[in-house]
Amino acid sequence: MKRVYSLDEARHFFLCNSSGSIMCVHPDGKEKEAESFPEAEEAFKRKCRVCGCTDDRACVTDGLACSWVEADLCSACVMKEANS
Ligand SMILES: [Zn+2]
Ligand SMILES: [Zn+2]
Repeated sequence: MKRVYSLDEARHFFLCNSSGSIMCVHPDGKEKEAESFPEAEEAFKRKCRVCGCTDDRACVTDGLACSWVEADLCSACVMKEANS
């Protein structure tokens, strides 16, 4: 199975191939099979491993939206982790 490392590669695959599936390799090392572009989009979505926030749904602390500190850890939770 073809492995893709970015959403752009996945988009290209589904533009050129009407059927078939790919293995999406997320920057954090997780692999997920996708049979359509929406599935690939889901596979490449970043999600905080602690609070579960995503690019479209950041968590807000003291009026500030969080940002990414690691591939799967947001700035709001890095502080929580440091305190625990
Ligand atoms: Zn978080
Ligand atoms: Zn967050």
